[in-house]
Amino acid sequence: MDRETMLQEAAEFIQERDDFLLLTHVQPDGDAYGSTLGMAHLLQTLGKRYTIANEDPVVDKFRFLPMSEKFQLSSEITRSFSHVIALDCGDIRRLGESAALLADEAEILNIDHHKTNDLFGRANLVDLEAAATSQIVFTLAKHLELDLNIGGAICLYTGILTDTGGFRYSNTTVEVHQIVAGLLDVGINPFEISDRVLESLTWNQVQLIREALGSLQRDESGKVAWLSVSRPLLNRLGASDEDAEGLVSYARNVQGVEVGILFREKEDGSIKVSLRSKYRVDVGEIALSFGGGGHARAAGCTMPGPAEQVQLQVLTKVREAIVS
Ligand code: 5GP
Ligand code: MN
Repeated sequence: MDRETMLQEAAEFIQERDDFLLLTHVQPDGDAYGSTLGMAHLLQTLGKRYTIANEDPVVDKFRFLPMSEKFQLSSEITRSFSHVIALDCGDIRRLGESAALLADEAEILNIDHHKTNDLFGRANLVDLEAAATSQIVFTLAKHLELDLNIGGAICLYTGILTDTGGFRYSNTTVEVHQIVAGLLDVGINPFEISDRVLESLTWNQVQLIREALGSLQRDESGKVAWLSVSRPLLNRLGASDEDAEGLVSYARNVQGVEVGILFREKEDGSIKVSLRSKYRVDVGEIALSFGGGGHARAAGCTMPGPAEQVQLQVLTKVREAIVS
């Protein structure tokens, strides 16, 4: 389906309904928060009612986002919803525990940019070319002929900024810059946002970088590098799962490396695998083969432990992809 048709279907989905539940993926990143809150701003402008839920509380770093206080814990919501907008989720499993809030016949509008998106919605606004789901929400606002207020612009800018790695990744296109110019026009302060979301590290994060770099290894070819973060390490430092965000780039950024990997032990002993590639390897496909998903250059999955077995399985698959 072409973009205009998808935009029109999404616009109609919103215009013809009210009382929406806005959901994004578990352990939200900047684009998950940004696109969800950007959508909340659009619904507010349209005079629609909405509820925003996630299984986890908003992480400190993103609490500056206007309306972030509207996020509710899904475990504390006692009703169900018939109209759902899912943002930045490649498949329904990404909703985690929040999926319990869907009524039996719930209609879903699926707004996303992941290559592995399985079109789980009643309406699907899925644009694989978009750098961020926040970019798609901006395009939808234009399609609805809505003016963004400053709050909405801050949220969408944050999503685009984080998913493009500060306009450095290969998804940074002419359109991204045009959209961002439109957001700056609304009057946001880009320095303040990048300072908060890209340049600031908590003390725990720096301690974790120091320790995690001790685990950095690469294979004989020098094309694959990986780091591991165990639960005992996180516990010892008092670090959270979010504190491990960004570590994988140390593996990917090593000269000559094509695929960088982070293996992080979760509380339940399963292993979260983050994959990043530089030019060639489609890590989205690799993650998909292990039950996860993502983009060609950034993807992830969670696998049952033990860590050594997960490492072996993932490294084997990555090496196959590199030589093929
Ligand atoms: P990260 O490694 O930073 O958690 O995720 C990288 C990208 O892959 C993000 O776009 C994220 O949404 C996606 N991703 C990570 N884990 C999963 C997963 O388990 N399933 C799916 N479908 N996508 C994932
Ligand atoms: Mn995204």
